[in-house]
Amino acid sequence: MSTGNDAREGRNDGRAVSVDSLRPLPVRVSRVRREMADVATLELTPPSAFAFLAGQFNMLYVFGLGEVAISLSGDPAEESRVVHTVRAVGAVSRAITRLRRNDVIGVRGPYGSYWPASESEGSDIIIVAGGLGLAPLRPVIYRVLAHRERSGSHGGNGVRAGDHDAVYD
Ligand SMILES: Cc1cc2nc3c(=O)[nH]c(=O)nc-3n(C[C@H](O)[C@H](O)[C@H](O)COP(=O)(O)OP(=O)(O)OC[C@H]3O[C@@H](n4cnc5c(N)ncnc54)[C@H](O)[C@@H]3O)c2cc1C
Repeated sequence: MSTGNDAREGRNDGRAVSVDSLRPLPVRVSRVRREMADVATLELTPPSAFAFLAGQFNMLYVFGLGEVAISLSGDPAEESRVVHTVRAVGAVSRAITRLRRNDVIGVRGPYGSYWPASESEGSDIIIVAGGLGLAPLRPVIYRVLAHRERSGSHGGNGVRAGDHDAVYD
């Protein structure tokens, strides 16, 4: 489950990746957490180890309906679990947030660039997100926490509350 581009570009920390595939792989939903009325976090159990880098995304395919890009929001160190947090804004994302445990979804990826976490080691890292924008940043937060002795870190998350925007540390 990889584009293969990352291996060619040496972006996958030396870990093995499979051949290119444009065909979605059917993957079972193992857990659904309802975060809000229109937001759900899905945990998927891939049939084999799934390696990705913080900042990448998957293409999620709802069979017969369509395919959308959704960021990986789990821990990159956990290769037996694929986590996505999705907000329902249209037909496909709405269908994804309505999936239940044991349903099957098509997955291909990972795609895209990555946060340069290893290049930032030894420096202070400031992570700022707004609302659901925190989801694609969670992998880099997991990574920084796993190696917290290597850098100083500070996080802020902005949320909308009525007419006001707030930033929490
Ligand atoms: C690299 C990447 C990573 C992403 N990561 C995430 C992620 O982690 N989580 C996530 O939730 N999303 C993420 N997205 C956004 C997600 O891909 C889109 O929300 C999704 O493609 C929408 O597809 P859809 O078929 O559900 O909506 P479509 O029907 O294609 O709607 C497209 C857009 O039209 C608007 N729209 C549609 N219906 C309505 C309506 N009824 N009222 C008002 N506006 C409407 C919305 O702005 C919507 O985004 C990511 C996108 C990219 C490119």
